[in-house]
Amino acid sequence: MKIGCHISVGKGLEQAARRAVELGAESFQVFTKNPRGLKPKKLDKEDAAKGVAVMREHDLTLVCHTPYITNLSTPKQDLQEVTIRSILEDLNIAEAYGAVGAVVHCGKHVGEGEAYGIRRMIETLDLILEQYDGPVKLLLENTAGQGSELGLSIDSLMEIRAALRYPEKVGFCFDTCHSFAAGQWNLETFDQLVEQMKASGYLQHLVAIHFNDSKAPFASQKDRHEKIGKGEIGSEALAKFLRSEVFAHLPVILETPVEDEQEYADEMVYLHQLRQAGQPD
Ligand SMILES: [Zn+2]
Ligand SMILES: [Zn+2]
Repeated sequence: MKIGCHISVGKGLEQAARRAVELGAESFQVFTKNPRGLKPKKLDKEDAAKGVAVMREHDLTLVCHTPYITNLSTPKQDLQEVTIRSILEDLNIAEAYGAVGAVVHCGKHVGEGEAYGIRRMIETLDLILEQYDGPVKLLLENTAGQGSELGLSIDSLMEIRAALRYPEKVGFCFDTCHSFAAGQWNLETFDQLVEQMKASGYLQHLVAIHFNDSKAPFASQKDRHEKIGKGEIGSEALAKFLRSEVFAHLPVILETPVEDEQEYADEMVYLHQLRQAGQPD
């Protein structure tokens, strides 16, 4: 298991990778570009190469996150085109950064209904993936179901993947907070969640875990991250992920609220403690 955290890439990938090492991370996540905007970003190839070298030296795994503002299910033609262009660019940046995947949130049907939203999401993903043949997987992230968000359950995510023309180009990123807020798992049902991941085939396509506690209650459908052990999920339930051998090969990345990235250093130490406390002597 590679325990890590989200890191700012404002000063470039090389600095972000060095910061990850300083904080004691074994994996990290960066945004491909400004998360609230879609402005194209000029890739600094030299910085990317230096960053990749630091990652190799320290055996760091990188996950990229695409901007939140795209909507794979948008009914509007112009927004769909912008979304396609933006995510293609994100995949290429993630590739230059040596990332294992680029996380994208599932679509929002914005009032058009769930069936339409899912159809449109599949169509948009096909249009993106027919133009990308590189090694980076597009990772569909489960949502909390806030507003008209789609993709709350393991089964719906698997159905979307199975309907794609290029399913092999798509993997998953599981967010513990979103899934809890979507009413998909809690302390009592953790084992069932894992069973469902196995039985559906989801687990073999799972590439990363977003590891967050939740400020909002179970099944509230609100996406509010909290520090590990300080939220509604609690450390006992979350520790189950850290101790389960089915997730042992994955990057586990904190996206918990911090004033300063330095706070992640302590939180990652806490995660290692939680993990070890469950290991047999
Ligand atoms: Zn997440
Ligand atoms: Zn979230």
